This record gives sequence, C-alpha cells and structure tokens, in this order.
Amino acid sequence: MNISHQNSSTNQEEHFDSIVIGAGMSGLAAAIRLAMAGQSVTVLEQHSIAGGLNSYYRRGKRKLDVGLHAMTNFMEQGQKGKPLGKILKQLRLRYGQLKLSPQKSSLIHFPNQKLCFSNQIEKLQADIAQTFPDQKENFEQLLEFVDHFNETDLNHQFIPASQHLSQIITDPLLLNMLMTPLLLYGSANQDEMDLAQFVIMFKSIYLEGFMRPEGGVRTIIQLLLDRLDSLGVKIRYRTKVQAILKSEEHVTGVLLQSEDVILANKIYSSIGSLESEQLADLPLRSRPGALSFVETIFHFEQRPSDSGADQTIIFYNDRPKFQYHCPATLFDPSSAVVCFPNNFEQDDGPEGVIRITFIANYQLWSKLSKNDYLNAKEQVKMAALATIKQVAPNFSATPIFTDTFTPMTIERYTGHIGGAVYGSPDKWRDGTTELAGLFLTGTDQGFLGIVGSLLSGISIANLHGISRD
Ligand SMILES: Cc1cc2nc3c(=O)[nH]c(=O)nc-3n(C[C@H](O)[C@H](O)[C@H](O)COP(=O)(O)OP(=O)(O)OC[C@H]3O[C@@H](n4cnc5c(N)ncnc54)[C@H](O)[C@@H]3O)c2cc1C
Repeated sequence: MNISHQNSSTNQEEHFDSIVIGAGMSGLAAAIRLAMAGQSVTVLEQHSIAGGLNSYYRRGKRKLDVGLHAMTNFMEQGQKGKPLGKILKQLRLRYGQLKLSPQKSSLIHFPNQKLCFSNQIEKLQADIAQTFPDQKENFEQLLEFVDHFNETDLNHQFIPASQHLSQIITDPLLLNMLMTPLLLYGSANQDEMDLAQFVIMFKSIYLEGFMRPEGGVRTIIQLLLDRLDSLGVKIRYRTKVQAILKSEEHVTGVLLQSEDVILANKIYSSIGSLESEQLADLPLRSRPGALSFVETIFHFEQRPSDSGADQTIIFYNDRPKFQYHCPATLFDPSSAVVCFPNNFEQDDGPEGVIRITFIANYQLWSKLSKNDYLNAKEQVKMAALATIKQVAPNFSATPIFTDTFTPMTIERYTGHIGGAVYGSPDKWRDGTTELAGLFLTGTDQGFLGIVGSLLSGISIANLHGISRD
C-alpha cells in the first residue's frame, strides 16, 4: 500500500521525535534509550500486552511464558565487559533486579553421543576431551578463534560457519553437535549459520551460559515497562500500524489501523525487515524466513528432577546428522528443544514443567481446517510425550495441564510473516533501510534472543537516534 502522508485522509495527528513500532524486547530497549536522550517517543504495539515473541499469558490460575526457555549471556554480579552488563548500564537497571538463577547443566543428545555443558566452559572442554579425544586441541583452537573474532562488526558479510569451522573442528559429528544448540537458538538460515552469528551464539551459550529470572519473562518486561513509565513514555496497546508514511525518500510518520496518523522524523521498527518493507511500500529486499516452531508446555504435580531428569535444557536429535530446516511434514519430531524450567539453581515454579519445541512447517499449518488444526495439535502433544520418554525415561508422571502453540499462534500474536521466529535470513546489521529515517531493531537487525534483541534496540537507538542528533 503506497500511502504518502499528503494523500492520506486522517482523523488526528500527533508529532513525536521518534516512533517505535513493537513493544518486544528490542522496541522497549530502543524506546528507553531514546527517551533517556530527551526525545519524545511513543511505542505502538498491536497486541494487548508487551513482550512480542517473549511474552506471557494466563490459563486459569497458571501463568505461562511464551518464549522463555532460558536467557543466554549469564554473568555474575560485577563481571566487566559482558553483554548483560552493557544492557544494565545502558538502561540504568541493577543486576539484582533481574533475580537471576543460573542453569544447572544442559545436554546435546545425539543417537550415540552426548555432550554436557554448563555455565563453565571447562565442563564442555572436559566432555569433548573424553568423548572426542582427538579433537581436544581443535576445540582449544576454536576457543581461541572465537576469542579473536569481531562479531559485532556492523559491516560483516555472510560467511557460512560450518564450512569455515570444519577447518578447525575436523570431526563432522562434533561440529554438528556443537552447532545444534546454536542453530536452534538463533539461526534464520536453514542448515547453516552466519559465522558472526555462530560466534555471538557460541559466546552467549557456551562461554557465558543460561539463566532464568525469578518469575520468568514477566520480571524483565515489568522492569522495562517501569523504566519507560519513569521516563514518561506511553505504550499504545492494540494499536496496529497499517502503513509507514513517507514524503519523497524520508519517513514522515505512520498510519494506524484506526486511520489516525502519528508524525515523526525517525521510526524504529522491530516487526521484521520484510514486514517493515511492506508497510513502507518499499522494494522487498528481504527474503521471508522459513523456520517456525511448535511448542507444547506440560505441567505436572511432580518435578522432573525427582525422577533424575535434572538437566536444564536438552537439545535432542535422533538422526545421525541434525537437520535444521523446514520439514516436509507439519512438524519434525526427530529433533527437539526440551526445556525443564524447574532445573535452574533456584526453582520458583509451583509445579513441574516441561516445554518441548519442534521445528514446524508454517505453510502446512496454514492450510489446515479448524478440525484438522486441533487434531494436528494433538499429534504434536503425543510426539512431545514420546520425546520426554526418550530423554527422561524414568519420569512417568501424567500431565495435569497441556498447551500447544503453533506457527499460526506466533504469526497471529507477533505479526512475523510465516511465524518465522528468527525472521528473514537477510540481516541488516547497521539497522538502515532503503528509506531514510526508518531503522530496524531486533530480529532482522540480526541480534536474536532476549539479550540480543535488547542489545539491538540499544545499539540502533544509540547509533541512529542519539549519536547523530
Ligand atoms: C517459542 C520461542 C522460544 C524462544 N525461546 C527463547 C529463549 O529461551 N531465550 C531467548 O533469549 N530467546 C528466545 N526466543 C527468541 C526471542 O523471543 C526473540 O528473539 C526476541 O524476543 C525478539 O524480540 P524483537 O524485539 O526483535 O521482536 P518481537 O518480539 O517480534 O517484537 C515485535 C513486536 O512488534 C509488534 N508488531 C508487529 N507488527 C506490528 C504492527 N503492524 N503494528 C504494531 N505492532 C506490531 C508485535 O506484536 C511484537 O510485540 C524464543 C522465541 C520463541 C517464539
């Protein structure tokens, strides 16, 4: 839809220095930074609550998180030079407010091999030395390579990680095992990953590790909302942007679904690159993402650790090689992320919980009739229970509550085309678009996950909103 500001028929007009589209992690962080710099900012969110891909909901008495398995980038209080420390400093938050609990340990579970890792890299090193003794030095070389790599270079061009790293880790099985959690937690490319993204994820997951805030994702969202409130920034919920307005080659504002117009010189869009290009009627330079997921959440009266299942996250794969691509079926149960939210150092959950995530095919889900959709969700649930049997054979409790969300749920609540959780395979690291004044934050700027998207919002606001003003 090509709507220039001059041509649009309007109800009301307001003016801000900056508009942020989307109240996910990156949008909230960007809005805080812009407001801290003294700008007038408004945040527009189509949904009725904040959080985006990392949100929450309630079913009866139960509070559920949507996205959160674990936060990456664990750091101890006072550690210097860590991404989480940078976020806290930039947003003026205190470490203690997050009430973080580190993971116990996690597992990469392949048919004939397993590798265990924790927030201490020595554990993974020791496991590799025992399971792949001839790769011990290769892994040390990989650690050195990662240490020297400048993954935050905004001009970085795509380099296929597996090809590059096969010169360092020469055992294909070990390389495939090491890449499995990194692909599942942050690659928008099928069966491959950008080298810079590999390094970001390697540091986030293996060198720093997993943690969980007490109370789940609500704790982080509430801190961000309180911060915005203290800066006088208003979030408008149930406010969908239907077009990004422009005059010649510069943004002028947005047209809302209500037909109201809000004017601004700069717009920070966290909704995705293709989604933003469509709203601004720009040539479509970003490819749609192909990776979506189904997730089933089970609640139990018992805790999995009572039956010996004490890992925090299990990256499960039952094929000789892990396949990270859109399946030809509704979902692919041959691999899964199995998350045990009770298995962090502090267990604040009132019930036992297991979350099972499978890679899914959006196109097939989108064609189902209502009845077939419900049946398909039941199939997902049965497959998820079968996966629990594989990874936690002694845990035989019957679920007291189950909920499943699909690619359709993700698309409906977050607006990501195709339910593509990691967005487009094309990332725009400097946050610029073809339209002056329109910037990307979050998923398609290229920093993923909770910590990544917070950092993205901060960096893009600093780069385009603050330092040049
Ligand atoms: C199942 C699942 C599990 C995950 N697990 C983890 C995990 O364990 N750890 C982790 O760190 N990360 C996890 N993630 C990833 C993480 O949630 C995301 O990478 C991150 O939250 C992305 O934030 P964002 O700000 O870039 O985008 P989003 O969260 O997508 O925010 C975009 C916002 O824009 C709004 N919007 C869209 N279109 C419009 C419009 N036209 N007008 C107004 N508003 C609009 C959306 O409603 C949304 O709120 C998971 C994600 C999923 C789905």
